[in-house]
Amino acid sequence: MEAINEKDDYVRKEIDKAIEHLSDKRVQHAIKVQSYIRSYVMDFLRSREYTEISPIIVSPLTDPLNHPVYDPKISAYGGDMWLTKSMIFHKQIAVQELKKICIMSPNIRLENEDRATSGRHLYEFTQIDIEALEKTREEMMDLAEDLIIYTIKRIKEEHPEELEFFKRKLPDYKKPFPKITYTEAEEKYGKDFEKKVSQLSDSPIWIVDIPLKEREFYDREYSDKPGILRDMDLVWPEGFQEASSGGEREFELSKILERIHKKDQTEEQFKWFIELAKQGIKMSCGFGIGIERFTRFVCGLEKIEDASTFPKIPGRISL
Ligand code: AMP
Ligand code: MG
Repeated sequence: MEAINEKDDYVRKEIDKAIEHLSDKRVQHAIKVQSYIRSYVMDFLRSREYTEISPIIVSPLTDPLNHPVYDPKISAYGGDMWLTKSMIFHKQIAVQELKKICIMSPNIRLENEDRATSGRHLYEFTQIDIEALEKTREEMMDLAEDLIIYTIKRIKEEHPEELEFFKRKLPDYKKPFPKITYTEAEEKYGKDFEKKVSQLSDSPIWIVDIPLKEREFYDREYSDKPGILRDMDLVWPEGFQEASSGGEREFELSKILERIHKKDQTEEQFKWFIELAKQGIKMSCGFGIGIERFTRFVCGLEKIEDASTFPKIPGRISL
């Protein structure tokens, strides 16, 4: 059928693209690998007694993030709600009672168009999101290392044919993964240090102790190192860059308020969380690993869109 106007033409092109994408053998194999990653990660977390909870899609409370994104608001029932950018606050709340939780959490982050060609950004993606009560950063780093080693080992053992398809060789990574502080990495490699650290490492590597200005208000500050947070990013080797971000969380009301103000954010924006903190919350720690980035790394893909069934590339309205 002939397109009758530009909009119809756009839709037809996007549908053609979606069909072409789905019929690409590389995409089909990457989606299979992703399905294995999902089940092995959950097997691992269940074996460590983590309870899987359902994702939250819409709420008056979501992650402010530390970089700008378009922010779709849903006004209903006399109030405003947002689509989930991350479940950080819901994790902090749920973990108070459930102690150890995990979620396959879809996130909507309408990233700027300039991220369309990064190979690493989608505006709809899924995080393996994990949080535990009264655990330290070091304990959670240890858990993340075990999770990654376990998942990769099972793929190698149970689905070598998939790695062969991608001509991908993955070593057996050893614990503990190497670590570098944010400041050391920046001093050594300059502004683009994450890329450099990733390119130079032959193991997943931690970047720890991230300055407050680089992060959202909710990660916990060292009591003896003002301005430095007890958080961590995990970076994939071979130039694949960030795998995960996480940290210990602020839980004291006075610290939470101080940090909201330092970020020039309003108490109104976080009134649901502040109310909760007033009632008292305990410390928790957690992290999130993007599943499409995990798949991209395991398969050695150039572009993250090949690790998504219906890729949402920043700047385009797609199926
Ligand atoms: P964050 O806490 O913001 O670092 O997000 C947690 C993890 O989600 C990151 O470490 C990535 O693996 C993944 N992630 C974040 N943003 C995106 C995106 N736009 N597209 C794909 N994955 C993402
Ligand atoms: Mg991050």
